[in-house]
Amino acid sequence: MTSLRIILCDQLSEDISSLEGYDFDKDMVLMCEARDMFNNVKHHKKKIAFLMSAMRHFSARLQQKGYCVTYTQLSRKKRSISLKDEIQKLLDSKNISRIILAHPGEYRMLEDLRSWEKDFKTPIEIRDDHRFLCTIDEFSSWAAGRKQLRMEYFYREMRKKYDILMQNGNPIGDKWNFDALNRKPPKEGLHIPPPFTNQKDAITQEVMDIVSEQFSDHFGDLEPFYFAVTRQQALDALHQFIQQRLIHFGDYQDAMIQGEPWMYHAHISFYLNCGLLSPLECAQAAEQAFQQGKAPLNATEGFIRQIIGWREYVRGIYWLKMPEYASLNFLEATNKLPDFYWTGQTKMNCLKNCVTETKKNAYAHHIQRLMVLGNFALLAGIDPKYVNEWFLIVYADAYQWVELPNVSGMILFADGGYLASKPYASGGSYINKMSDYCKSCKYKVAQKNGPDACPFNYLYWDFLDRNREKVSNNPRIAMMYRTYDRMDEVKRKAIKEDSSKFLKNMDDS
Ligand code: FAD
Ligand code: SF4
Repeated sequence: MTSLRIILCDQLSEDISSLEGYDFDKDMVLMCEARDMFNNVKHHKKKIAFLMSAMRHFSARLQQKGYCVTYTQLSRKKRSISLKDEIQKLLDSKNISRIILAHPGEYRMLEDLRSWEKDFKTPIEIRDDHRFLCTIDEFSSWAAGRKQLRMEYFYREMRKKYDILMQNGNPIGDKWNFDALNRKPPKEGLHIPPPFTNQKDAITQEVMDIVSEQFSDHFGDLEPFYFAVTRQQALDALHQFIQQRLIHFGDYQDAMIQGEPWMYHAHISFYLNCGLLSPLECAQAAEQAFQQGKAPLNATEGFIRQIIGWREYVRGIYWLKMPEYASLNFLEATNKLPDFYWTGQTKMNCLKNCVTETKKNAYAHHIQRLMVLGNFALLAGIDPKYVNEWFLIVYADAYQWVELPNVSGMILFADGGYLASKPYASGGSYINKMSDYCKSCKYKVAQKNGPDACPFNYLYWDFLDRNREKVSNNPRIAMMYRTYDRMDEVKRKAIKEDSSKFLKNMDDS
């Protein structure tokens, strides 16, 4: 019985479940640079080059280890490849009795596979993706019967299940969460180590030539290219983080400094999401650094929470709530995404910096995505479908299973509070506290109204007022409504007028 093992672009792990039980005498592996993988939305050029290079390196590694791999690649001559056609070609020419895959990361792909089974007249076995720490079924059992889900409780279960930062059944340090010690504002003179960089090899150069020729109309800068493209390089990137930046990860997790896009973050999401790193090894590497006295508990716990908590939690919600989740718009937001999300041309210095860095690096750290880019989209009432499309296009780590819950659930409150307990709305003062952006902004963060006022300030109150019916009974923001209601009529009128003027002319802001 010959099995055809399919490896998708985000399944580049040698221990992927689709390779389990591989028969080296009979079975074969198919990998291909399917055009729609890069074109279903027009992904950042750097992401396409990264994935194509990582796939080619991975396929070479499998071949070295004796796997029989058919790899179809884009080239000057071959500009269009479809996974379905490539499977069909092998079915027509080889005696294949079943197709095996690990569970795909996107709902659309799962639907495709289910429908292809009939066309191929060959069974398709979809196996759990063991690289995640919580299976789709386990998450759904955990969520069953809960009206609202809370990441914190899920995270505690994961800590216990994997015995991470635990001692005799209790959390080390006697607390599950040390966020109260984290999130310091940036201070002058911080030494931020440079990010991991990797030299391009011939394979990467070849795919970069293809990307610059065939994907030239996609968003983002292709050069400079520094991503790891093999497992060993990704491990080097992880170890560099553990040795050089984990120590301050917690302290400056929310800090933003102009000209410092990487801060003390790990920059490993691209590697985790395509399979070059595993979540458990990342969490264990941090735990080991803590045990060796090389990293404090607040930083270690905070980092581990992101990986075994948030990352698994958003994936669980995605599979629990798809396909409906993709079209949720609880706040009925209908505005278009302003052009400056693509060009970076805005007088709002925080947004200008975050967009420009995103374009250059295919990366922005969490707080830039949440409190600047996301917060603005929430306050400005941008339709979730445009915001989701943007976030899926611009980041090298973007896959719908992780992007959609973060955008629709965490930043836009489009799911009505299923994922997050309140909308993450905030005025300019939070950005001012956690960054140095406001110092060189045309707008004045201390000013609340008028042409020079920071737009986040009046948009914040206008957002609350516009959505009063939907969110005012949320106990976590009820106090803000009381503050708004105590404002005099003149002040409230100014908020309305400034907001309305701003929203009508967003592209000139
Ligand atoms: P670090 O800050 O160093 O954190 C370590 C790891 O924790 C990350 O690599 C990531 O794997 C995990 N992590 C942290 N926060 C989250 C989270 N909220 N959800 C899932 N995993 C998390 N992450 C993606 O991987 N892909 C996305 O498409 C994506 N879109 C996002 C969109 C928005 C609006 C927001 C607010 C967050 C999004 N995130 C996404 C989560 C997070 O911002 C990125 O994982 C993180 O910035 C990646 O950089 P890092 O590796 O330096 O992370
Ligand atoms: Fe952003 Fe407002 Fe600060 Fe300008 S003043 S950088 S718009 S928060």
